[in-house]
Amino acid sequence: MSDSGLEEPAKTLLEQLPFAAHIEHAYTLRETALYGGADHIVGEKEGRIGLIHRRERDALCKPRDRFWGLNRGGEDHVSSCWRCTQIAAGASAAPESVKTSAGGPL
Ligand SMILES: [Zn+2]
Repeated sequence: MSDSGLEEPAKTLLEQLPFAAHIEHAYTLRETALYGGADHIVGEKEGRIGLIHRRERDALCKPRDRFWGLNRGGEDHVSSCWRCTQIAAGASAAPESVKTSAGGPL
């Protein structure tokens, strides 16, 4: 099935990450037709990315308890959160910056 002329889709940022992560949708109190929260990248294990420390199941951009609601849903693999995307891009570009909180490789 390679005669479509289309190239393989590029790996998503999530697939390039040096640690297990998934997307969760953050709802907001002011969810409207124009603003429906964002899809954040959630790490599955506690660890550090450079100077950022995240516990298990925290979003990359901020801890889970700072969200009003953060729920796994759908099969979307693309984050719409600018900050999560920036942090994930940095982690992919420099996997050596990703460590467990004890300092070892994640
Ligand atoms: Zn985020």
